Amino acid sequence: MSDPAPKTPHRLATRLLHAGVERTPYGETSEAMFLTSGFVYDDAAQAEATFLGQVEHYQYSRFGNPTVAALEARLAAIEGAEAARATATGMAAVSAAILAHVKAGDRVVASRAIFGSCHWIISTLLPRYGVETVFVDGADLDQWRTALAQPTALVLLESPSNPMLEIVDLRAVSALAHAAGALVVVDNVFATPLLQKPLELGADVVVYSCTKHIDGQGRVLGGAVLGSKAWIEETLQPFIRNTGPAMSPFNAWVLLKGLETLHLRVDAMSRNAARVADFLAAQPGISRVWYPTRDDHPQKALNDSQMQGGGTMVTFEVEGGKAGAFALLDALRLVSISNNLGDSRSLATHPATTTHMRIGPDERTRLGITDGVIRLSVGLEDADDLCDDLAAGLAAVASRKDSSAA
Ligand SMILES: *Cc1c(COP(=O)(O)O)cnc(C)c1O
Repeated sequence: MSDPAPKTPHRLATRLLHAGVERTPYGETSEAMFLTSGFVYDDAAQAEATFLGQVEHYQYSRFGNPTVAALEARLAAIEGAEAARATATGMAAVSAAILAHVKAGDRVVASRAIFGSCHWIISTLLPRYGVETVFVDGADLDQWRTALAQPTALVLLESPSNPMLEIVDLRAVSALAHAAGALVVVDNVFATPLLQKPLELGADVVVYSCTKHIDGQGRVLGGAVLGSKAWIEETLQPFIRNTGPAMSPFNAWVLLKGLETLHLRVDAMSRNAARVADFLAAQPGISRVWYPTRDDHPQKALNDSQMQGGGTMVTFEVEGGKAGAFALLDALRLVSISNNLGDSRSLATHPATTTHMRIGPDERTRLGITDGVIRLSVGLEDADDLCDDLAAGLAAVASRKDSSAA
């Protein structure tokens, strides 16, 4: 994967391994893990000077911790961001980024196709605190233009979106949002920090669920917020420090290990995903496949202009609605049924009855999430084994149809 604008002397793969590490006097090879809630001072005067901000000294792991700081520095170096803060989960990152920035009376505009809990924050939580919120179809620039014709505090969007892999024009929406005075926050989970650089495309803040590709091995929860030094330190940090969504140092250490292989995993998983998408598109029993770099994706050109590759997710529609989708899922032996994603093991989910059940049938129709839609997070298995497993799933769908016709 190429790296258009390195902000440090090292290239991407090197940064994934080395950025942010401060060795202790013991000279350890791997990053040190500081499992400590607090820190001690040499004398009372040092404690006073620390609280006055006159000396740099860790105070309490809710405010900062050396292992978490190493992860933050590495994530910032990968993203090309001035600063980063890690949080306990991806949702802690999204909610902190929004709640630290807006106040009662503000207006927030968001794309409709966002992660379920992000949708809840915009549709249910923010109005409760006196924030006006507006949803738009992310792919429709006219709707963005109309919604951003009045002063707006914050824009939240996701691209590619979950689960229909819709692409939002990050450059155009960022320009419209800035003209309305808004901070642009991009949930970049599906793209990963390697395949799309929202800050270079005009966004102000990037948020991640580190639970997904950054861990990528199904072990820990985590989140991150990245942006300018001024916004992170003056707007986000007081919110995080006083409301407490801090990441565990143990999880930060696991995530540092995850980053070491992120490029290898995302590259291999994306190649597998493209293979699986092409395979599925050629099968009878599949009515449609969505993958951003396929010629039949309606926004392929836009995707190619802002994302390097198609990512690790494939969405497809099985004939036969819910019964067809369930027959396929239940026949899979290698791919597991799970609502998680970005894992080294392939995972499949039925959005209409799980991740997108709560938004209701009308909103699902608006987003194109039919009862036959399956979202596949493609892992590191041999692509031929994945195709064999999906073929067995499709055979189960076909035999179900035959027996119901008999
Ligand atoms: C998983 C996910 C989140 C939430 O992250 P958690 O770590 O589960 O809290 C937010 N946005 C997207 C796109 C996600 O996939």
